Amino acid sequence: MGLPDTISFMFLKSLKLVNFRNYSSCNFEFKTPLIILLGNNAQGKSNFLESIYFLSTTKSHKAEKDEELIKKAENFLRVEGQVQNEENNDQTQLEIAMQIVDGNLVKKVKVNGVTRRIVDYIGNLSVVTFSPEDINLVTGSPSLRRWHIDLTLAQIDKEYKKALTEYGEIIIRKNRLLKAIREGIAKIEELNFWVNEQVRLGEIISTKRFKFFNFLNSVEKKFDSFFFEYLQNELSLKRILEYQVREIASATSLIGPHRDDFRFLTGKDKRDLAHFGSRGEHRTAILDLKLSEVSFVESTIGSRPILLLDDVFSELDDTHQEHVLGLVSLQQTIIASVELDPHLKLKLKDASFFFVENGQLNEIVDK
Ligand code: ATP
Ligand code: MG
Repeated sequence: MGLPDTISFMFLKSLKLVNFRNYSSCNFEFKTPLIILLGNNAQGKSNFLESIYFLSTTKSHKAEKDEELIKKAENFLRVEGQVQNEENNDQTQLEIAMQIVDGNLVKKVKVNGVTRRIVDYIGNLSVVTFSPEDINLVTGSPSLRRWHIDLTLAQIDKEYKKALTEYGEIIIRKNRLLKAIREGIAKIEELNFWVNEQVRLGEIISTKRFKFFNFLNSVEKKFDSFFFEYLQNELSLKRILEYQVREIASATSLIGPHRDDFRFLTGKDKRDLAHFGSRGEHRTAILDLKLSEVSFVESTIGSRPILLLDDVFSELDDTHQEHVLGLVSLQQTIIASVELDPHLKLKLKDASFFFVENGQLNEIVDK
């Protein structure tokens, strides 16, 4: 299947899994830009998509702990992939290995065979995922939404990732100092350094988040008309001073981007989708969020990321399914689903179909 000439995109050519979730060993070649994975429940469709996300970000969008990704009863995993940049034909070999050594998890990443720091590894492969759990982004906790923004931005922006990591460390150390001040074993002046650092790093983070939401709001929505409201927990020296007594009393940093949130608002009266939207509306809002993120990645790094769509068609009406069909050929896309209606299969005839069973993929020749 041909892709439009004008669009530059990333292409994952091959993927090799060793001891990843329920995959003992898997060598996969992506021959077409569009891949459909079919199969019964609990066979490894979502795990396969997760491994691509992992290769991109060195993290899982689902697992709470990296250890969960290692196949049960094993003590290491390896994920490798060959990425081709369609623009200049450059090939990049990516590799992540994780091993449990003396009860501790050790993660190593390589680019073209050379060991790198994680911050230097990221950016070689970009993905945007849509999975059933994402629906929680609308109604779930603010920390879930922040986690989502961070995973998205850190994937393509080293400066953001660096600032975020440093900010997190500063908050931990500042909180320790707040506790020491409360206990009378440290002086209030000692806070100055940490507060200044918090404001400096916090500004980098919130400026980038602000630009991110501005961009998302500028992208035309495919499914519904709604927009994102960035609920910035403003951070300034003045505000920190106002909160100082309370921060010392609670030994907690009470303001700043670690308390940011965002909402999905819809209609002229700006209704909050979390309280008023139907389940279907939540689903399409998330799809719109993800598709806007594809545009954001494209505008930031100059090529379209891989789109991973897990169980995307269920619960969508025909019109919405058509919308999705119209988008899948704009970049490399991998779709996982238990089954597909015959009319969808017909429309996806340029794709390669695979049957996933017990951690193995077999091509379905007779679609
Ligand atoms: P569904 O259609 O229900 O979404 P799926 O094909 O997407 O199914 P996955 O979520 O990819 O299924 O795979 C789930 C299977 O992987 C489960 O049987 C689960 O027990 C297994 N699994 C998850 N983590 C590991 C692990 N670390 N080691 C071995 N097996 C694992
Ligand atoms: Mg699944």
